[in-house]
Amino acid sequence: MTEYTPKERLYRTLKKMDVDRMPAVCFTQTATVEQMEACGAFWPEANEEPELIAKLAEAGHTVVGYEAVRVPFDITAEAEFFGCQIKPGTREQQPSVIGHVAATPEDVDRLKDFMFGGTARVDRIIGSIKILKAKYGDKIPIIGSMIGPFSLAQHLNGDNWFMGLMMDDPVTQPLIDMTTDFCIQYAQRMVEAGASCIVIIDPTASYELLGDEFYSKFAIPYHKKIAEAMKAMDTPSILHICGDTTKGIHLMDQAGVECISVDQKVDLKKASEAVKTAIIAGNLDPVQLMWKGTPAEIKEMCVKDFKNGAKIVTLGCGTVSATSTENLKAFAECAKTLKY
Ligand SMILES: [Zn+2]
Repeated sequence: MTEYTPKERLYRTLKKMDVDRMPAVCFTQTATVEQMEACGAFWPEANEEPELIAKLAEAGHTVVGYEAVRVPFDITAEAEFFGCQIKPGTREQQPSVIGHVAATPEDVDRLKDFMFGGTARVDRIIGSIKILKAKYGDKIPIIGSMIGPFSLAQHLNGDNWFMGLMMDDPVTQPLIDMTTDFCIQYAQRMVEAGASCIVIIDPTASYELLGDEFYSKFAIPYHKKIAEAMKAMDTPSILHICGDTTKGIHLMDQAGVECISVDQKVDLKKASEAVKTAIIAGNLDPVQLMWKGTPAEIKEMCVKDFKNGAKIVTLGCGTVSATSTENLKAFAECAKTLKY
């Protein structure tokens, strides 16, 4: 039987090509306090410095046994780049966005001449990918993650975002066009630095929150643009949206991403039957199972999820930082035993 490198195995799985077995990977946030203690890189510094970001990402591979490394660990670097006020994170908790910068079309005009290549955290995350690429070359895939255009627009606009969408606020369209343009450029830079696939984390672009009409109008076309830009670089993209998206999976599938990463609330069987283009990844419960469950329960659920149609069994959302290495290892070890 052909032996694939982890990078080949992940690529082939995402591209629906023949492959020997499931890759053990996590598309959502991977860091935990136990991994920080094992590798010596701790939040919040490990959200900031390229060397420390790379070191903590690497722990997912060297400590847990994932067949990939993934950066970063939060979804605020993009809003920070545009000047939003950020509440700093702690050792256990990720930073969050608390101030907003784009209330009007004029604000968007002022923000749209952004430039990469400085010292912003997005640039330092790109730096961490270069460090990982130099170390792991073509063997271990590097998963580059970013917030999606919808949730970034919400971060920039603030609490009024959903109401603005419904009421046709004039800021809505220019803002989401701008965040999409940013996401495409950011993803391209991550790939140029060495990322082998891109995860779009768009938590609030949820079918559960938006419904058919608004989801089709304000989410799909923008995810599609990112997916197309990534295809042009032969780089698979993975779309993660939080909440119960079961009824919207067929719409998410129209974005043309290679993989849809689904939340623990999603019915896997229905989701996997609803897709024509993408494969489904998910959806181990990060709280009740991965944090609070036992290794035996985790292994049992991995097999169940696989039987229900998950092509890549993995976490349904970001890893809780208090999750034990023992539990994460149980998942990684089980994923490696699953053959297609
Ligand atoms: Zn999620």
